[in-house]
Formats: sequence, C-alpha cells, structure tokens
Amino acid sequence: MKNSASKTCGRCRQTKSTLNFYPVGQDGEGHPFCTDCLSLIFLAKERERRKTSLVRLRTCAQCEQAFPLGHFHWIKASKAYHSYCRACHSAYMAIRYLRKKGGSRKVRSAGGWTGT
Ligand SMILES: [Zn+2]
Ligand SMILES: [Zn+2]
Repeated sequence: MKNSASKTCGRCRQTKSTLNFYPVGQDGEGHPFCTDCLSLIFLAKERERRKTSLVRLRTCAQCEQAFPLGHFHWIKASKAYHSYCRACHSAYMAIRYLRKKGGSRKVRSAGGWTGT
C-alpha cells in the first residue's frame, strides 16, 4: 500500500502523506499540489471571479476604451451613465467652453486633440 508514502507539495513545499493529495494523474500519482493548497487556490480564484463580475465595464463612446462604471458620470436626470468617460467628458466640456469663449477661434474636434 502506498498509504505510508509521502509527497512534496509543489506549492507550499511541504512533505505530506499522499492522503493529502487528490488521486489524479495517469497512474494515480496524485495532484502536484496538496489539498490545502488546492482549496486556497480555489478560494482565491472564486474571490477573483466574484470581484471581476462586480466590475461591469462600459465602453466610452469617444475613446472607445472600456472602463469600470466609476469612470463615467452618473446623470441623475436620465438615470444612466454618460456615454463618455470622465476624461473624454472633461475634454469635451473644455473644448465646448473654449468654443463658446473663443468664438471665432477654431478648435479641432476630430482627429486628435491639440493638447493645450
Ligand atoms: Zn501545499
Ligand atoms: Zn473616453
């Protein structure tokens, strides 16, 4: 019987009885990680999955990048998020402000921002 056999876990590097390893593999040599490590990995993955499922992404209509909803302005009136991300929204507002203020001064809206 190989009940007395021991095996070193590939993760925590602890030598444990083969009973602490799931009997998987071609000739039942067991999983390379002990059951303790496997449950830890499983929990971490589960937590990560739950976290990512909470973060819903929204694509900005301007820069076409996907951001978490926190990057968008919430519009109370329409009970929806703005279609532009905060960065694009403030750039848009700045340009609109400049247009209004500058009057005849031309501000390029498409293609690329001039920066200043
Ligand atoms: Zn381990
Ligand atoms: Zn954007």
